[in-house]
Amino acid sequence: GSVMEKVLQRRSMRMRNMQRAWQESPVGRTMLEFRKSLPSFKDKERLLQAIARNQVIVVSGETGCGKTTQLPQYILESEIESGRGAFCNIICTQPRRISAMAVSERVSAERGEPLGETVGFKVRLEGMRGKNTHLLFCTSGILLRRLLSDRNLNGVTHVFVDEIHERGMNEDFLIIVLKELLPRRPDLRLILMSATLNAELFSNYYGGAPTIHIPGFTHPVKAHFLEDVLEITGYKLTSFNQVDDYGQEKTWKTQKQLMPRKRKNQITTLVEDALTKSNFESYNSRTRDSLSSWMPDCIGFNLIEAVLCHICRKERPGAVLVFLTGWDDIRSLSDQIKAHPLLGDPNRVLLLMCHGSMATAEQRLIFERAPPNIRKIVLATNMAEASITINDVVFVVDCGKAKETTYDALNNTPCLLPSWISQASARQRRGRAGRLLPGECYHLYPRCVYDAFAEYQLPELLRTPLNSLCLQIKSLQVDSIAEFLSAALQAPESLAVQNAIGFLKMIGALDEKENLTDLGKLLSILPVDPKLGKMLIMGAIFRCFDPILTIVSGLSVRDPFLLPQDKKDLALSAKLRFSAKDYSDHMHDDSALNNKLSHNQSLVRAIICSGLFPGIASVVHRETSMSFKTMDDGQVSLYANSVNSRFPTIPYPWLVFGEKVKVNAVLIRDSTGVPDSSLILFGGALSTGVQVGHLKMLDGYIDFFMDPNLADSYVKLKEELDKLLQR
Ligand code: ADP
Ligand code: MG
Repeated sequence: GSVMEKVLQRRSMRMRNMQRAWQESPVGRTMLEFRKSLPSFKDKERLLQAIARNQVIVVSGETGCGKTTQLPQYILESEIESGRGAFCNIICTQPRRISAMAVSERVSAERGEPLGETVGFKVRLEGMRGKNTHLLFCTSGILLRRLLSDRNLNGVTHVFVDEIHERGMNEDFLIIVLKELLPRRPDLRLILMSATLNAELFSNYYGGAPTIHIPGFTHPVKAHFLEDVLEITGYKLTSFNQVDDYGQEKTWKTQKQLMPRKRKNQITTLVEDALTKSNFESYNSRTRDSLSSWMPDCIGFNLIEAVLCHICRKERPGAVLVFLTGWDDIRSLSDQIKAHPLLGDPNRVLLLMCHGSMATAEQRLIFERAPPNIRKIVLATNMAEASITINDVVFVVDCGKAKETTYDALNNTPCLLPSWISQASARQRRGRAGRLLPGECYHLYPRCVYDAFAEYQLPELLRTPLNSLCLQIKSLQVDSIAEFLSAALQAPESLAVQNAIGFLKMIGALDEKENLTDLGKLLSILPVDPKLGKMLIMGAIFRCFDPILTIVSGLSVRDPFLLPQDKKDLALSAKLRFSAKDYSDHMHDDSALNNKLSHNQSLVRAIICSGLFPGIASVVHRETSMSFKTMDDGQVSLYANSVNSRFPTIPYPWLVFGEKVKVNAVLIRDSTGVPDSSLILFGGALSTGVQVGHLKMLDGYIDFFMDPNLADSYVKLKEELDKLLQR
């Protein structure tokens, strides 16, 4: 112990010297000046004291006030200054990969160090950290994974859970696990951080933990609702059709008016009239979808373009931040803008995008200022709402929607629909315009729609399937999943929990008594969805690991094929050039990426089936068309970009699929045609005869997995299967 102690003490001294040297250097001093100008700086001592005296505190403060980059850094610096730098280990979680990466890079820069030294990050599949890292930014998912193997978080001194107001599923889950951990680790400090003022909720959850609010300063932002936007851009409403009783979408249209403008109050009447027709009064958070039809996206785009033109022509300098629903919209709008004579001119407009899957180099550009006389326009998803701060934004365009997953427990179907955001989100989006100067925000919906928005968004825990979550809960050695989840801030409905448990039993991850099977233990270690984990394991057992690994990567990271809206057909026919007759989106990915057909096609098909089961639909051939029926008798349709949607018939009786999503109809995304034999032999838990028969192949494949624990579990799995075989 004492040798280690000495090493750490020596390292602490070195850390202190380096920190002081940086703070006294000219660049370091300038950086410190900037940091002192942030609102959080005034509360630094108060915060440090509160953290020292309380095990849990809740900090709220407006986006940009310096919570994420400063608070963990204050602790790090004060520990280093007091000569204890090497003894502290601070973890700060972020809901998204990109913010963990961006923030760690920023904090390293503020400390004048390369990333991966004192400050590092870890997100799924990527990370930069080293033996000198004492402040780690990671996704909340990464911390949860660590808790599975290190239940007491040994060596960790401070945990920050950031952006808790978003109520992400992982954050809600973390909060339960940490609550249970705190009594066992009285020295551990927990700091919850939130951009909004609902700190009470979290404080109460932790038995009245102290709350600290950082008063921020932002400039006033003028809100323009649709009425004003129509006035400013010269658009007018020309027609409106209501949503009919069956929720069928009908359109209402805006059209560019070249005539003299309508007077503003006339426009307002028109908008209000339109809304009455859409039965707006019956609006509440449950029927939010019925409203989504009232502004079709194509019209939204033209309106956005008109607003952008207005800003570029008439408004003062300043960057523009446009909130859109997702990557598809960002791409389509950016294509449209690039073709525009004014907005597409690179000498006048710098167009950037901000979304979860963009490259790191692209990220950095967002924070940089545009050259003089060039207007910076950033197209963003709701990611730019709270976790990322772009300082020079003066104008915000808010489409009012975000792609939100919901979960229909009754039909056990996840839904992904652009739906109206909450009032809290709308305010948050507006606030982005007032960082440096007074700003303007253009909300592309009427004031009365804003008034009807839900106050806050529903927590993610209540709107996603709980399959992976329940598996993770079980691997925390929890007895009853339902009981564990009832301790959540807001517990999910029991049907959703039952569905998840039923699913885990069906794939063989849980036994009848809800205990983890050996397969279940393996699945909880693999950092992929349980279905995909099972596919990997089966791939290893049956010696076709390579193609399965490619397929699983495609399913768990991102579809390798792009599908530009305006070149859909071209893209699809290009895609079909890769082994069109596979009748499989999954195998398609493999042949495209590996540029060869798998050796054993029918085996790969069977393994896909074993993983995706019970995601299975029977193919019903009619004279001119096909229809698809799931196990629970539901009708599903194919996504337009599935290779299987391209054929008039499919020579297989079954399609297995990874995901069904309710968009308008219930759609299945990727599918693979399989014969009866695959289903009979591989559709079910990992205990049918044929699979056991192939067991001997297992030995050589243990090395595929990197983790020695995994090999252990593997041997156990093999033993269990061996026993079965002997019966
Ligand atoms: P909060 O977490 O309270 O929203 P942050 O700690 O993320 O605030 O940011 C505080 C301030 O630091 C921002 O207002 C911005 O001025 C600055 N900042 C943050 N990230 C960057 C970056 N990548 N580049 C430049 N400045 C940044
Ligand atoms: Mg933050």
